[in-house]
Order: sequence, then C-alpha cells, then structure tokens
Amino acid sequence: MEMEFSNFIHDIIEKDLEEGVYDRVHTRFPPEPNGYLHIGHAKAIWLDFSTAEKYNGLCNLRFDDTNPTKEDIEYVESIKEDVRWLGFDWEDRLYYASSYFDQLYEFAIQLIKQGDAYVDDLSADEIREYRGTLTEPGKESPYRNRSVEENLDLFIRMKNGEFPDGSRVLRAKIDMSSPNLNMRDPVLYRIAHVPHHTTGDKWCIYPMYDYAHPISDALEGITHSICTLEFEDHRPLYNWVIEKIGFKNPPKQIEFARLEVSNMVTSKRKLRQLVEENFVDGWDDPRMPTISGLRRRGYTPEALKDFCLKTGVAKSKSIVDIAFLEHCIREDLKLKEPRVMAVLNPLKVVITNYPEGQIEMIDIENNPENPEMGTRKVPFSRVLYIERDDFMEDPPKKFFRLSPGKEVRLKGAYFIKCEEVIKDEKTGEIIELHCTYDPATKSGSGFDGRKVKGTLHWVSADHGINAEVRLYDYLYIEDEAGGEPKLNPNSLEILSNCIIEPSIADAKPGDKFQFLRHGYFCVDTKYTTKEKLVFNRIVSLRSSWKN
Ligand code: ATP
Ligand code: MG
Ligand code: MG
Repeated sequence: MEMEFSNFIHDIIEKDLEEGVYDRVHTRFPPEPNGYLHIGHAKAIWLDFSTAEKYNGLCNLRFDDTNPTKEDIEYVESIKEDVRWLGFDWEDRLYYASSYFDQLYEFAIQLIKQGDAYVDDLSADEIREYRGTLTEPGKESPYRNRSVEENLDLFIRMKNGEFPDGSRVLRAKIDMSSPNLNMRDPVLYRIAHVPHHTTGDKWCIYPMYDYAHPISDALEGITHSICTLEFEDHRPLYNWVIEKIGFKNPPKQIEFARLEVSNMVTSKRKLRQLVEENFVDGWDDPRMPTISGLRRRGYTPEALKDFCLKTGVAKSKSIVDIAFLEHCIREDLKLKEPRVMAVLNPLKVVITNYPEGQIEMIDIENNPENPEMGTRKVPFSRVLYIERDDFMEDPPKKFFRLSPGKEVRLKGAYFIKCEEVIKDEKTGEIIELHCTYDPATKSGSGFDGRKVKGTLHWVSADHGINAEVRLYDYLYIEDEAGGEPKLNPNSLEILSNCIIEPSIADAKPGDKFQFLRHGYFCVDTKYTTKEKLVFNRIVSLRSSWKN
C-alpha cells in the first residue's frame, strides 16, 4: 500500500485533469545558473519531475539565464549533474530562457504597439520612489504617456546600444495605484552592456524575470508552473503578461512553501559567501547543504527523495528538523551497506596468553539486519587496537566497557580481561593494555559459563588499515532565542590515525559503510588517494528524531 503524504499541488492537478482545464501535465524546473543547487532545490527538482512522472507528463529543465552579471557555465554543468544524480531525466527537453531572447523582444514590441508598455527615462531610484508603498499609491512617470511611435523608436535604440546602462527601461503599463506593488508598472527590460554566457555580445538589453518566466512557460507548453511562496504576489503579473500577449492554453502558476531545514542555510547568496571566504572547502564541502555537498558527504538520491516526499508539499511555511533528514539516510543505508569495525582513536591491547604469530580468521556477519549480505573473515591476533574511549582506569558504576580487572567481549571473538595498564613514564598517558583471553568463550561456541555486559569492536594491529576520518558537526547552530542561526566554528574534526579492518582495503571513493558503534561513513571523493583512504561521517547511529 502506498502511503499518502500531503501534496496539495497534486489535488489541484487532479481537479484540472478531471474538469478538462488541461488534458496533460507538463512542468519545468527553472534554476538560475548563479550558484550550486541546495537541498531546497532538491525539493523543487523532486516536486517538478516526480509530479510529471506521476501523471505521465513531461518535465523540462530550463536555465533561467536572463541575468548575465551573476551567471556562469560552471553552474550550468553542476546543475545538470545534480539533477541527473537525483535520478531525473529531462531527455531532450533542455532549454535556456536566453534562447527566447528574440521572441521576448518581439513580444515586447507587440506590447508597445498595444499600448501596454512604454520606455521610461526615470532613474532606478526615481522609479522606486514613484512606486509608492503598501499604504501609499504610486505616482505615474512623466514618460508614461509617450506615443507608440516614440516608444518603439526608443526601445529599438535601447536594443541597438545607443543608451548607457540604467538610462532607460521598458515598463509594463498597468496600474500605479494597484494595491499589489508588482502591478505598478513593473520593469520588463533593462539596459546592461554585459556579454551573456550563451548569446555573447548580441544583446545589451535583458528581460526581467517576471516578464521572461511566464513567456518561457507558455512557449514550452507548460501546464503547471510550480514555484515558491515568495512569487505568490507576482502571480497577477504572470497572468497579465500571458493574457496581453494572447497565449492560448495559458500555464497556471502554483506556489508552495519553500523547504527549510534546521541547522541549514538555503540561500545561494549565503552559501557563496561561505565558499568565497574559505570558511568551507568549496561548494561541495561535506558540511554544505548543497546537493553536491550532500553527495560527497554520502547522502543518497533515495534518501533525499524520501525526505522530499515525507516532508510533504504545503502552502504554509515550516522548518523541518535536520534530525528527520538524518533519519532518512540511516533508513536508506541500514539494510544496504556492510558493517565493519573501525577504531577511530586507537589504544593498543596485547593479549598476553594468545600465541605469538597465530592468526585466526573470524567469521563476522556483514549486516545482522540483512543476513543475505553474508559474512566475512576478520583476522584476530595477539596485538589489537580498541577504542581509547572503551577503557577507563577508574570507571564510574555503570561503565560496562573495559577497566582494570574487568571482562568484556571482543565482537565475534573472545572475552578478554584487563590485567595491567602500561603508561608512558614521563607523561603518565596510557599507552597499552595487557589483557588475557579465555579460549572457552569464543563467539558461536555456545559458551554460557558467565556473562559480560559490554561488546567492543577491535582491529588486529598487523592487519588494520590506516585511514583518516572526518567527523562533522552542523555548519550552523540554531539560536535558541529564535534569532538568525550562527556559524559553528567547530564543525569539522579530523582524526588522522584511525585503524580499520582490512575488508575495506579496496574501498572506492563514494563507497559507504557502517562503522560499528560509530555511524555511517563514506569514502571521500576529493581527498582519498592511493595511499590513504579518507572517510566522511555521513551520520551517527543515534537518532534524536522522534516519530
Ligand atoms: P536562492 O534563494 O537560494 O538563491 P533561488 O530561488 O533564487 O534560490 P533558483 O535557481 O531561482 O534559486 O531556483 C530554482 C527553483 O528552485 C525555483 O523554482 C525555486 O522556487 C526553487 N527553490 C529554491 N529554493 C527552494 C527551497 N528552499 N525550497 C523549495 N524550492 C526552492
Ligand atoms: Mg533566483
Ligand atoms: Mg531567491
């Protein structure tokens, strides 16, 4: 049975199909190539593409590249990669708003001829001032009633490059006293003598988003143009443009609340700042909420899509707890990835009664929750490493791990007992433990003579593989008092002397594992070399998310 998660957009679409408003569904994902995509965009990608899939429709990928000053081809490529990685395919439906520049220009001429647009010589500041406020009506520009001929002449000369940046704009002639500020003669075109990454020097006037977007949608035959809530009061303008140009089968704009996640920032501008100030190691730093950062961290497309589905699509704003995102990746990896033993902070253990030179290959299940994943052989020998935190010389009452005179089980192997603590003579630091083992206690032998409360993971010293492990904390700390989240100065911890069981020797960048008792880890795609594996902790095992 398929669970239903709230999605009011699907309700609208179903009603439209039922009532014959549309006989098909065609959506689009329209990123501006001015940065790398983040988790909020993943939600939009998922919503646009999976909605089309659900109704046997189509979804376009369209680059909304009408603002040449901030855009770059690097971003175009990263966006394509991210959409594909999430598992969506635009097939032959890749579009650029910039490829409509000719048509957009022709439609502007049409609007001028209809008396629906005029060239304004007011400066940007004056336009703002004349626009008025929510409580104060706007004032008409003295240039508003130019003749069609004069407007045509000026607009063509704007296009021909006769005027400097900022000297004139083309505006829609709507209503300077509209209660909706977006309808007070919005700007449709501005002059910018800036080359564009697809059209080069061809244009020195560029269309505004509110003008280019509805036309792009209409030209592509989009039925449902899904966007975020901040565009809600742009919808009358969207409809105005469509109506004045006279498109048949007009697209319908539907707004939903953007995805926001606690401890994450979803604004390209703020993320760019982190990159430019070198606070993080690029857009794909594993701490970044970008799709490329989440990918490098070890998140899977399945987990992200599951997260998008289960957080629902609503009209009202809310913030999703990051613990729920972490829950989704744990759930996805739980049955898929092998579990291995990794000692992050090693303490040497010598088993004094275990024969020198002897090696036992111990069978350990690869995933107790998924027996189909089988077992592997792990070498056990006289000298091992355990986790430094798993030993306490002077433990509190409820410490069930190792301490002097106490016994614990080594996972899959034997009981060991700590007999002696060896310290550095100068510093007093514990450098090794001398233990004995009881051969009768071997796992699987049915031994039930006595019980121990703790089971520790371990790695054979001669067989373990050295690796670097990177532990992450949130990039942003939520402000308890409800203010802006603050940057966390301690979001990265590098452990460079970790020892991991030899079964991971052939791990490739991107491979994922559960390290017993530590969480899920992914081989880093950037820093891993032939000589050294570098792991990112995707998420710890413990969940703070409550169902
Ligand atoms: P930012 O505000 O981070 O710069 P943007 O909205 O300007 O993002 P675009 O490239 O214009 O970025 O966004 C492409 C699409 O992704 C738009 O349809 C936008 O509504 C949607 N989108 C952006 N952020 C979110 C979010 N947090 N949740 C859901 N959808 C989003
Ligand atoms: Mg934008
Ligand atoms: Mg934005």
